[in-house]
Amino acid sequence: MHNLPNCPACNSEYTYEDGALYICPECGHEWTAEQEAEEKEKQITRDSNGNIIADGDTITIIKDLKVKGSSSPLKMGTKVKNIRIVDDVDGGHDLEGKVDGFGVLYIKSKFVKKL
Ligand SMILES: [Zn+2]
Repeated sequence: MHNLPNCPACNSEYTYEDGALYICPECGHEWTAEQEAEEKEKQITRDSNGNIIADGDTITIIKDLKVKGSSSPLKMGTKVKNIRIVDDVDGGHDLEGKVDGFGVLYIKSKFVKKL
């Protein structure tokens, strides 16, 4: 059994291979392994130094950040453990993490450094 990627259009898991093409029997979408690799590349989240961030990593904030609905900023140097990669939320926030005193926050990866 091949481990084929899900269809990027409808997320079907019944993808099959036809030569260099991946084909989705459910919506008829066709794509190539090359496109698949590009798609993966796009989903990689990097910190301010270009290091790859993954779910469960610990990061620190590299500048004071305003927090919506809070009068105090998230201070530079604040450590956020066990962050999660999320799809862009509210204008490019691509990390989710729980911070003491703030609860769950969405943070932009360009304002963090991986530990
Ligand atoms: Zn499909």
